[in-house]
Amino acid sequence: MLLDADIKAQLAQYLQLLEGDVLLKVSAGSDDVSRDLLALVDELAAMSSNIKVEKAELQRTPSFSVNRLGEDTGVTFAGIPLGHEFTSLVLALLQVSGRAPKVDQKVIDQIKSIKGEYHFESYISLSCHNCPDVVQSLNLMSILNPGITHTMIDGAAFKEEVESKDIMAVPTVFLNGESFGSGRMTLEEILAKMGNGPDAAELADKDPYDVLVVGGGPAGASAAIYAARKGIRTGIVAERFGGQVMDTMGIENFISTKYTEGPKLVASLEEHVKEYGIDVMNLQRAKRLEKNELIELELENGAVLKSKTVILSTGARWRNVGVPGEAEFKNKGVAYCPHCDGPLFEGKHVAVIGGGNSGIEAAIDLAGIVKHVTVLEFMPELKADAVLQERLYSLPNVTVLKNVQTKEITGTDKVNGISYINRDTEEVHHIELEGVFVQIGLVPNTDWLGETLELTRFGEIIVDKHGATNVPGVFAAGDCTDSAYKQIIISMGSGATASLGAFDYLIRN
Ligand SMILES: Cc1cc2nc3c(=O)[nH]c(=O)nc-3n(C[C@H](O)[C@H](O)[C@H](O)COP(=O)(O)OP(=O)(O)OC[C@H]3O[C@@H](n4cnc5c(N)ncnc54)[C@H](O)[C@@H]3O)c2cc1C
Repeated sequence: MLLDADIKAQLAQYLQLLEGDVLLKVSAGSDDVSRDLLALVDELAAMSSNIKVEKAELQRTPSFSVNRLGEDTGVTFAGIPLGHEFTSLVLALLQVSGRAPKVDQKVIDQIKSIKGEYHFESYISLSCHNCPDVVQSLNLMSILNPGITHTMIDGAAFKEEVESKDIMAVPTVFLNGESFGSGRMTLEEILAKMGNGPDAAELADKDPYDVLVVGGGPAGASAAIYAARKGIRTGIVAERFGGQVMDTMGIENFISTKYTEGPKLVASLEEHVKEYGIDVMNLQRAKRLEKNELIELELENGAVLKSKTVILSTGARWRNVGVPGEAEFKNKGVAYCPHCDGPLFEGKHVAVIGGGNSGIEAAIDLAGIVKHVTVLEFMPELKADAVLQERLYSLPNVTVLKNVQTKEITGTDKVNGISYINRDTEEVHHIELEGVFVQIGLVPNTDWLGETLELTRFGEIIVDKHGATNVPGVFAAGDCTDSAYKQIIISMGSGATASLGAFDYLIRN
C-alpha cells in the first residue's frame, strides 16, 4: 500500500467530488518507481468507480496521463505526484472529471483562446513548495486548451534526464523543448510570458486614484484594504502579488494563526483585497515616480497612472553576493532556495554563503540531503542564534569557515567550485563542489526611485511615524522602508499606518 491512512482519508473525500469518468493511461516498467506508480493508480481506481486505468506506452516510463474517456487532455505525471505534488494530482483528477477550476472566467477564456501547439515540461522535486503552482497552472492550461500539453517530471525519478539538461533548480520549465523559465510562476505570469498578459492600453486611460499602492505584498495588501474601507478610489500595482510570502514555506509567527504556508496566506490576502473592489494591476512593474499636480507613476509598459497619494510597499529581494560566477551560474548550481533546490544536490558537496539565521537554517536543512556543506561567513563569528549554531556544530558533514570572503564561483557549464580569501592570512583557497546557496539577506526594491525620495544608505525609504516620506502625498510601508524589523505582521501594521496617514493627508489637502 503506497498511500498512508491519512492521505487515503483525504483522497476519499476529494474523490467524491469527481464529476465524471477519468481515464489514467499508465506506462510502467519493472523498476521500483514503476511498481509504486502502479500501486498508486490501482489504489486510486479502487477508491472511485469514476477512475479507470489502462496500460499505455507514454514518452517516459514510469508515468501516467490523466484523461477524459475518449479524449486525451495532455496532462502527464512522470514519477509519483505525492509530497508537495499531491494537491496537483487531486486537482488534475477533479478538473479532468469536469469540476470547474477556481480561476476567474476572464483567465479561463484567455487560456481557451490561445492558438497554436504548446508542449510544456516542468522539472520539479517533491519537496519543492514553489513547484505545485507551476504544475497546477500548466495542468489547467492543458485541460482547458487542446493545443497545450504538460508533463510534470519528478527530477528524483528521472535523474539522468535532469543531469543531461543541467537542471539545478526547480521548478524548471521547458516549452516545445526550449527553456521557458524557472522558479515559482503563477498562472497569470505564465500567460504573460507567453504573450497573453494584461493589455498596456487598458491601463493608460484609468481615472486618477485617491490612493495608489505600489507593491502587492503584506504591506501593500494591508494598505489597500485600509484605504478601500474608507470608500476612496484605491488601486494596487504589483510586479508579483504576494511578494516574498509567495516564497515562504511555513509561517508560524503570524499571530492568531499557529501555522500557515506562504501561498495560502497570499490567497487569503488576495481574497480580502478583492472583497473591496480594489483595482489590482498585477504583473506590472513601476519604473518612475514623479510629483506634479497629482503624483504620476510610470510603468515598464509605458502607461502612466495618476493618484492624489501613493503608498510605496515594494518590499525586498534576495541580496546577491556579487562575485564573478554568481549571475553566470544562477540555476546552474547557484541557488537561493534550499527548500526548493536542495534535493537536486543529493549526495553532492555544496556551500552556503552567509552565517546568519537563514544561512545556518539552510546549512542544517541541506546537511540532511547532501554529502557535505561548507558554510562561508565573512565575519569572524557566525551571526545566527545560538540554538541554530549548536545544532549546526552537532552535524558530522558540515564545515564552517569564518572570516572568509567569497572571491568567485567557478564552473564551466555549471558550478564546479568556489574560491575564497582567508581574511586573516589573505590566502586564496579553492574548494571543489557542485552547488552554492547564497543566504546573505535582503535588499530593498527601491533602486527604481532614483533620487525622488530620501533613502537611507542601505536604500531603505525613510518614513515618519505616519508612514510619510519626505515627499508630500507619498507614503511607504513594509520591508522597503527603514522600519526596524522585517516581518509579515510588521509590514501589515505599517501598511495600515501608511494608509491611515494617506487618508489623513487627503482630508487635510
Ligand atoms: C524565505 C523567507 C521566509 C520568510 N519567513 C517569514 C516568516 O516566517 N514570518 C514573517 O513574519 N516573515 C517572514 N519573512 C519576511 C516577510 O516575508 C517580509 O517581511 C514581508 O513579506 C514584507 O512584506 P512587504 O509587503 O513589505 O514586501 P514584499 O513581500 O517583498 O512585497 C513587495 C511587493 O512589491 C512588488 N514590487 C517590487 N518592486 C516593484 C515595482 N518596481 N513595481 C511594482 N511592484 C513591485 C513585489 O512584486 C511584491 O508584490 C520571510 C521572508 C523570506 C524571503
